Amino acid sequence: MSQADIQTAKLSNGNSLKVHTQLFINNEFVPGRGPLIDTINPVNEQVICKVHSASEEDVDAAVDAANAAFKNEWKKVAAAQRGRYLNKLADLMERDIDELATLEALDNGKSFVVARDVDITDSIACFRYFAGWADKIHGNTIETTYDKMCYTRMEPVGCVASVTPWNYSIMMPTWKLAPALAAGNTIVLKTSEVTPLGMLKVAELIKEAGFPAGVVNIITGYGHITGNHLTAHPRVHKIAFTGSTATGRRIMDGSAKSNLKKVQLELGGKSAQIVCADADLENAAVQACGGIFNNHGQSCNAGSRILVHEDVHDKFLELFVAEAKKIKVGDPFDPEVSQGPQINKAQFEKILEYIDIGKKEGAKLVHGGRRIGDKGYFIEPTVFTNCHNNMRVMREEIFGPVVAIGTFKTIDEAIEIANDSDYGLAGGVYTSSIETGIIVSNSLEAGTIWVNCYDVFDQSTPFGGYKQSGFGKELGLDSLKEYSHIKTVKIQLISRL
Ligand code: NAD
Repeated sequence: MSQADIQTAKLSNGNSLKVHTQLFINNEFVPGRGPLIDTINPVNEQVICKVHSASEEDVDAAVDAANAAFKNEWKKVAAAQRGRYLNKLADLMERDIDELATLEALDNGKSFVVARDVDITDSIACFRYFAGWADKIHGNTIETTYDKMCYTRMEPVGCVASVTPWNYSIMMPTWKLAPALAAGNTIVLKTSEVTPLGMLKVAELIKEAGFPAGVVNIITGYGHITGNHLTAHPRVHKIAFTGSTATGRRIMDGSAKSNLKKVQLELGGKSAQIVCADADLENAAVQACGGIFNNHGQSCNAGSRILVHEDVHDKFLELFVAEAKKIKVGDPFDPEVSQGPQINKAQFEKILEYIDIGKKEGAKLVHGGRRIGDKGYFIEPTVFTNCHNNMRVMREEIFGPVVAIGTFKTIDEAIEIANDSDYGLAGGVYTSSIETGIIVSNSLEAGTIWVNCYDVFDQSTPFGGYKQSGFGKELGLDSLKEYSHIKTVKIQLISRL
C-alpha cells in the first residue's frame, strides 16, 4: 500500500519536521508507482523517510500535464504575470527560509547557515532576477530589402525536462525553473533521488504562489528509470541537465534516439587555480581554500587543482594549510561548522579511495586524509602537494574535500597544465598584475574565470562549461535564450503606390 504524502522527519538536534514524500503533478501531491526510496541522513546514516518515485507511467502523466498547461492556461498568462508568480514564489521562500535550509541540512548534510545564507538566499535572488526578465523578452526588427519586413520572436520551447544533482538540491533546480518559466515554458523537474526533500517543499510553495496546474511538475526517482524515461521522452522539447559527464552522454544519446530535443548540459570539472609569483598570497590562500573546500568539495566548479609558482610554493602552502585547519567539520546544525558530511556512502568511499590513490601515486599528503569519527560520512579537508598533471588526483573529478597542488616555472607552463584537462568548467588566477590576470583568463579553456577570487556567483552572469564540462549557459540573459526558440518572420510588402 502506498504511504501518505506527509511524513515526520527527525533532526539530529532532537526536533522534528513534516516533509512531503509524494510526486507533485498538476499541482497535487500524488503517490508514485515506482519503488519507494530511502533518503538517508549523512550525519548518522539513518533513514530520514521513504520517498515516492516516478514510474514510466508517472513520468508520462507529468509530461502530459506540462504539455497541456503549455498549450492552454500558461500560453494565455501575460508575461508580466509570469514575473509576478516568480516574485510571489521568491516571497514565500523567504518566509520559509529556515524550513528550507533545515531540509537542505538534513537531507544533504550541508551547514544550516550556509544552506540559508547561500543556497536558499541565492535561489530567492535567482527567482527575483528572472521575474524581472519575464516581460522584457523580445525579438528584433531586421532591415533586409526595401520591399520586405523582417522580425524575430523569442518563443518558449514548450515542455522542458530538467534533471538535477544532489550537491545543490534547491539551487540547481532553481537555475532551471526560473529562466524556463520566465521565458514561458512549462517544466517537469526530476530531483536527485538522494536529496528530494527540499524541492518537494518548494513544490508546495509553487502551488501557494498560484502557478496554474501543470506548469511546474516535480518528481523524483532513480536516474536509470525515471531520469532515463523523462529525458528520452518524445513529448519533451528540451532537457536542462546538471550532473556527471557520464550521465550527460547518456542524455545526449536519449535525445538523439527520440526527438532530437534541445539539450543543455552542465557537467563535471577539474578546475585549476593558478597562483602567480606576484600574487597577494594571504588573499590567494583564503580564496583558493574556499575554492576547493566550499560545499565539502562537492561543487562542479571546485578549484581542485592548484598550480603555484615554484618561488612562492612553500609560503603559499603554509598559508593554505593554516586556512584549511580553520575549517570546522561536524554536525550541520552547529553554527560554527562549515563542513558537514559527504553526501553518501558511495561518495565517501570513492573519496577515501582517491586519497589512497594519491598516496600510491607519490603525491605528498600534508594535511588531512582520514575519516572523522566512526558514524556519518565525515572526511578531513585533505591537501596533497608534489602533484604532477599525469596523476589521477590531478586529472579526475574527486568531488570531495581533496586538493592536489603542483608547481610551475612560467605562466605559459601554468596555462598549458591548466588546459591539459578533459574538463573546462572554471578556473582561477591570483596575481597583482592586471595584464597577467587578463592574459591568463583569455588563455584558459574554461567557461568562468575568477581573478583574485573564486566561487563568486551572480544571477546576472552566465555560467557553463567548455569541453567535457558541457554546453549551454545558466543564469543571466544568455540562459533565457537556452529556453527559447528564435523565430524569423519575413513579410513581402506589396507596393500599391
Ligand atoms: P549524476 O549524473 O549521477 O546524477 C545527476 C542526476 O541525473 C540525478 O538526478 C540522477 O538521478 C540523474 N540520472 C542518472 N542517470 C541517469 C540517466 N541514465 N538518465 C537520466 N538521468 C539520470 O550526478 P550526481 O552524482 O548527482 O552529481 C554530481 C555530478 O554533478 C558531478 O560530476 C558534478 O561535477 C556535477 N555537477 C555539475 C554542475 C555544473 O553546473 N556543471 C553543478 C553541480 C554538479
